[in-house]
Amino acid sequence: MALKTISGKFAKIENQTEKTKLFTIELDEELEFESGQFVNLMFEHEGEKHRKPYSIASSKVNKDIVELTINLVEDGRSTPKLFLKQVGDECSIMGPLGLFKLQQDNELKKEKITLIGTGTGIAPLRSILFELLSNSKDEREIVLLFGNRFDNEILFEKELKDLEESYPQLRLVTVVSRPSETWEGRVGYVQDNLDVIDYLNSEIYICGRPEMVTAVSDKAILNGADVDSIYSEKYV
Ligand SMILES: Cc1cc2nc3c(=O)[nH]c(=O)nc-3n(C[C@H](O)[C@H](O)[C@H](O)COP(=O)(O)OP(=O)(O)OC[C@H]3O[C@@H](n4cnc5c(N)ncnc54)[C@H](O)[C@@H]3O)c2cc1C
Repeated sequence: MALKTISGKFAKIENQTEKTKLFTIELDEELEFESGQFVNLMFEHEGEKHRKPYSIASSKVNKDIVELTINLVEDGRSTPKLFLKQVGDECSIMGPLGLFKLQQDNELKKEKITLIGTGTGIAPLRSILFELLSNSKDEREIVLLFGNRFDNEILFEKELKDLEESYPQLRLVTVVSRPSETWEGRVGYVQDNLDVIDYLNSEIYICGRPEMVTAVSDKAILNGADVDSIYSEKYV
């Protein structure tokens, strides 16, 4: 798919948590991409140019918008400026980029899928999930292992629960590292909750901070996962 630079504008900006926003960007031209890929988001603030990579959280079926779920890094160069943007402000994207994508025509295709992410690392997994669930011919079991810091800040919580209810092949396993007293689910880091993976029979997609991605893939390999069936994206 050809790399394009496409101008657009922020069509919707939603607060997902205190420090995470979901930006919907309406594009002036369609963007063809594969589920799992990312774009470079470019915008200007007070004459300064900003450009950062973000995974596409939306479905590849919607080619005229991209949704990006972005965490505010308070001492970061770009996100504090991005968080000042308003609906209607201009930006542009360059993409599609990246090799992290759902493997559709792969000879190594496994009978199950495990998606593992933390925080905004859910973004490309959400896009992959939409593709898997919309394909009625693909009935493979899917486990989504999703780690968040706090139980009141689980991104896309309702949407993911609704999908789990609607699609029997999907199992959602949410893990919280700093649980409140009322949290009844799993506790800790995703890498300590890998018992949900069928290592030998799964394609494993991992996305998030580099330490987590390395810890999960090392552990999966130690437990017999096929190195060639592990796909990952690190938010460096
Ligand atoms: C392929 C790819 C896809 C990405 N997709 C997303 C995405 O979907 N959503 C998203 O929020 N980010 C994503 N990122 C990270 C993003 O590109 C920026 O690094 C991030 O927004 C910080 O930018 P900044 O300019 O504000 O901070 P910088 O000035 O670049 O960084 C300041 C400091 O914060 C650290 N830092 C960087 N990112 C984070 C983070 N997410 N949480 C905590 N600390 C951080 C850096 O290591 C650095 O020490 C992705 C990165 C890559 C490489």
